[in-house]
Amino acid sequence: MQNCSGSCHCGKVKFDIEISAKITIHRCNCSICKKSGYLHLIVAASRFHLRCGEENLTDYRFHTGVARHLFCRHCGIKAFYVPRSHPQDYSVNLNCIDLPPETEVSIEPFDGRNWSENHEQL
Ligand SMILES: [Zn+2]
Repeated sequence: MQNCSGSCHCGKVKFDIEISAKITIHRCNCSICKKSGYLHLIVAASRFHLRCGEENLTDYRFHTGVARHLFCRHCGIKAFYVPRSHPQDYSVNLNCIDLPPETEVSIEPFDGRNWSENHEQL
């Protein structure tokens, strides 16, 4: 495992995660991920550490309301959130982390538009 840090755009929300040297990212086509270009890295709650900024997080919920789409209320960036597929864990946006340079990244498409049929692939 290697340590990796991430943040929103303005830097009021910062976090650290532990990731392996080889990670799989999902590019989802659902209504919200498509609009924001979100790239998912699922991280176990035990490997996610919010360093600062909890008071700056706001959540947006829609449809079943299970997913907590957390974003920084200052800059609007969703650097991580609690996904419906893993409500005990986090999904971190690949675009919001400083990836160690040796990390091997594979990006796979995920058909989130048909979430019920496909969520077990995550
Ligand atoms: Zn921010």
